[in-house]
Amino acid sequence: MAETFDIAIVGAGITGCAIARQLARYDLSICAIEAANDIAMGASKANGGLVHAGYDPAPGTVKAQVNARGCELYGTWAQELGFLFRRTGSMVLGFNDEDRAHLEKLRQNGLANGVPALSIIGPDRIHELEPRASAKATCALWCPSTGYVDPFEVAIAALENAVANGVTFMRSAPVEAIEVAGSDDGAARFTLVTPAGDVRCRYLINAAGNGAADISHMAGAEEFQMVWRQGNIVVLDKEPRALMPLYPVPTPVSKGVIVTGTVHGNTVITATAAVREPGDTQTYATDVDALLTGARKLVPDLGTRRVVRAFAGGRPVIKGTNDFFIGQSAVVPGLFQAAGIQSPGVASAPAIAERMEQVLRDAGVVLRKRDDWDPIRRAPDDFDRAPLVRKEELIESDPAWGQIVCRCETVPEAEIVAAIRRRPGAVSVEGVKRRCRAGMGRCQSGFCQSRVVTILARELGCDPSKVLLEDAGSWLVEGPLKGGVR
Ligand SMILES: Cc1cc2nc3c(=O)[nH]c(=O)nc-3n(C[C@H](O)[C@H](O)[C@H](O)COP(=O)(O)OP(=O)(O)OC[C@H]3O[C@@H](n4cnc5c(N)ncnc54)[C@H](O)[C@@H]3O)c2cc1C
Repeated sequence: MAETFDIAIVGAGITGCAIARQLARYDLSICAIEAANDIAMGASKANGGLVHAGYDPAPGTVKAQVNARGCELYGTWAQELGFLFRRTGSMVLGFNDEDRAHLEKLRQNGLANGVPALSIIGPDRIHELEPRASAKATCALWCPSTGYVDPFEVAIAALENAVANGVTFMRSAPVEAIEVAGSDDGAARFTLVTPAGDVRCRYLINAAGNGAADISHMAGAEEFQMVWRQGNIVVLDKEPRALMPLYPVPTPVSKGVIVTGTVHGNTVITATAAVREPGDTQTYATDVDALLTGARKLVPDLGTRRVVRAFAGGRPVIKGTNDFFIGQSAVVPGLFQAAGIQSPGVASAPAIAERMEQVLRDAGVVLRKRDDWDPIRRAPDDFDRAPLVRKEELIESDPAWGQIVCRCETVPEAEIVAAIRRRPGAVSVEGVKRRCRAGMGRCQSGFCQSRVVTILARELGCDPSKVLLEDAGSWLVEGPLKGGVR
């Protein structure tokens, strides 16, 4: 017997999770359905984490409307949801008169899009703001509202808050077919067929990233095609002081190679842009070269031999448009599209959610505020960042807080256990990593992976040979593990 909800959201990337969080404040039953076994497993786990300010999109586009607003909302979202967000400001560096003219165009775009406090500055101010910026830069667009986040932390925090407010999360549930009943008579209109069980709902929100065209097609709605605009990214080891995001003058299809700090103090070089086969998450030597060369132009003293990781993701682009598609389907009423959420989807996520709420309202969906909605998510303890007194309290409460499993990122056993026990919790080694950084550091899990496997096996009540690196089929060990944790 299929479970019935008012709203089903397909896709638990940053878009679906933000929408779930936004709508959880209303008296509605909501289900977030995800094909993978965890949150943020698509583009939302493989991006630069930049909260772009919004001077880039062409004025009048949907992107332009949600980017600056999303960037503005990040302050409140970070506070309420307890995720790390640094509003550092950024500079787009220019090296000649042609670049300067381009910067002025960006500034005008930004003004039209509602981006606050943009200005064009000269070399002295550039080096005051970021002493490591290239001395060859003659001008820059200074944008104080830019920032950065850990994108999967945002998605996880938003969905945890949604679940705490009653949203149901179905994982490992790829939607394989959609049946649509003839008319919206107030009853559930859509039946979503998944191997984890069918779901019925009155309203359907398509936030399926690179799978959005398939969902739209299955429902008999708009026919469009997705283009996998692939990007490679490299992560460098931590710096004593995180770099301010530095951008080059953008190209027609991308913002170019950007150098940025991260909330944990690493440096990230992001991202190339090339149309590749759907699902291609390989890194390419040519792309990595392009990243390192582009980065050195912005930050000449960058220690590019300090790369700890290279990875790739695919921006969910709708063929034939560079814009987001957010709105009710013109073909199938009751189906709402949040599709084509390419860059700046991370930066825009809170505003995409806000816009989706307005779209539902305009379509006549009754949104009645719940008295018991709690906007606050209590962030889990982060041992590495905790003050000494808190560290002592934690170890006093449970000695497992003193058992350091990941030495690079100082993650103790108890923090890993907490990551698995949260709702929704980690079910794989990478899921643990995304929640508490075990394995995210310099050695990239060389020392701690087998211990994380042991803890997962113990917590999930399975044999270590059943523990997954990431999604279904990605087992790590065949025989018994030596040693292990307690
Ligand atoms: C290299 C790169 C760099 C980027 N850098 C930035 C940046 O710095 N700042 C920024 O703002 N944006 C950036 N972006 C863009 C950003 O990552 C995306 O806009 C954003 O992650 C899209 O989120 P989403 O939730 O819409 O899609 P996804 O994260 O892809 O989520 C969609 C989800 O839907 C699920 N799904 C698909 N089909 C089905 C189905 N049939 N049934 C159930 N579930 C399904 C998928 O498994 C997936 O989890 C970058 C993107 C890339 C690739």
